[in-house]
Amino acid sequence: MTEPPPPTLSSRAATISPAAAARTPWQVLVVGAGPAGATAAHRLAVRGLRVLLVDRGSMPRSKVCGCCLSVAAIAELRLFERGAARLPLGAIPLRTVRVAHRGRSVSLPLAGGAVVSRERLDAALVDAAIMAGCHWLPHSLLTGLVDGGDSAVATATLAVRPAAEAAALPTTITAECIVLATGLADRVRARVAPGTDAPTDGHDGAEMPDDNRVGLGTTLPPGMADLPCGELTMAIGSDGYCGMVRLEDGRIDVAAAVSRVALARRASPGHTVAAILAVAAGDGGGAWPSLDAIATAEFRATPPLTRRAPLVGGTSGRILRCGDAARYVEPFTGEGIGWALASGRILAESLLAVEPGAEAPPGPAAAAARYEVAHRHRFEAAHARCRRVSLALRHPAVTMAALEAARLAPWAVRRLLPIVIGGHAGVGFP
Ligand SMILES: Cc1cc2nc3c(=O)[nH]c(=O)nc-3n(C[C@H](O)[C@H](O)[C@H](O)COP(=O)(O)OP(=O)(O)OC[C@H]3O[C@@H](n4cnc5c(N)ncnc54)[C@H](O)[C@@H]3O)c2cc1C
Repeated sequence: MTEPPPPTLSSRAATISPAAAARTPWQVLVVGAGPAGATAAHRLAVRGLRVLLVDRGSMPRSKVCGCCLSVAAIAELRLFERGAARLPLGAIPLRTVRVAHRGRSVSLPLAGGAVVSRERLDAALVDAAIMAGCHWLPHSLLTGLVDGGDSAVATATLAVRPAAEAAALPTTITAECIVLATGLADRVRARVAPGTDAPTDGHDGAEMPDDNRVGLGTTLPPGMADLPCGELTMAIGSDGYCGMVRLEDGRIDVAAAVSRVALARRASPGHTVAAILAVAAGDGGGAWPSLDAIATAEFRATPPLTRRAPLVGGTSGRILRCGDAARYVEPFTGEGIGWALASGRILAESLLAVEPGAEAPPGPAAAAARYEVAHRHRFEAAHARCRRVSLALRHPAVTMAALEAARLAPWAVRRLLPIVIGGHAGVGFP
């Protein structure tokens, strides 16, 4: 199958050369320009800090994602807009979710959410950060990280490609604080500078469950299915689940969380997703693309989804993680973008907060401690709820019982749904 044409969004050019970036003493380096990194960069730049935002790729870029904005994500975007020009997202209001499993399907109202492609959302957030005064350096892969210990800076090594096809130049960036917003790909571990009192090889790897699923995603041309605008279809099979929505430009976004055992058993990622849809459809069908189209589509895969990494890397408090790089739980409830936006905001607020009576923000250790408390307060219960939902859905009997309850007592399920998916109805997206 041929790939749909990419959206006609022009690429965001670098605002600084690698050499100039290497000469600048940055207050904050943000690595990763997804919603978490762009939000942190924007908030810090608005307050006048010298901020450099880098990404291994360019912007706009696609990302394996269901592209649904939760009520909480929309509330975060509204906060974002207070400090920025309006975000021109052209998001489509989400009105219903149709859940299908073993030939049964039920449609429930889903007020307050919206759909927008990641090309559009993430590029708009990066634009807002640049407009706030943040510098932007695309094609910059983080390859090394040194926590300066007692010195006033941390150091990052980037492999920077001045143009998409050019050879990478090693570039060293120093900053008082380095924010790792590298998503599920977060891999670079902080070393501690030799000659400091701190231990030299602080272990800060991510914890992951054994039964971890991976994400698969593709976009299909508009005519591949009769999927109505504003409806999210969730197909639940035995090896995972798959969400499908029509994007603002008509394309169909397909995103799935699948078991790694099933992925290894099938001929291709497309066949794995097609098998999930086949179980969900039972003897019937759905308003989704044909199983053949799904089986032959080119899917992109993510690293394992559920993860928990230390919020503070290294030992000095100068290296902080936010977004998926810090914590993520597989995506059935569609909350990751909202979590990423909120964690970028909370991280920036922790760096900027000034204690009553103090004249300047706290040092890195105090800011890091504040961030850990605020992060736990905002996310711990939400992550646990999301994990409970995703584990429950692995039992077909639970899924069937939930669908049956939704069919027989839709009013009750409508009330319970916001509790399960962590939203509250009534906030619209213009
Ligand atoms: C299948 C699936 C469906 C989902 N559906 C939804 C949904 O419907 N709604 C929702 O709210 N959430 C959803 N999510 C979750 C959502 O996509 C993520 O939670 C969100 O993108 C996290 O944002 P982030 O900024 O932390 O990371 P990302 O958006 O992943 O951004 C990380 C950035 O870091 C860059 N990077 C990585 N490594 C490096 C490096 N070494 N050097 C430089 N740059 C680097 C990457 O290029 C990337 O641009 C879904 C996720 C999956 C996998």
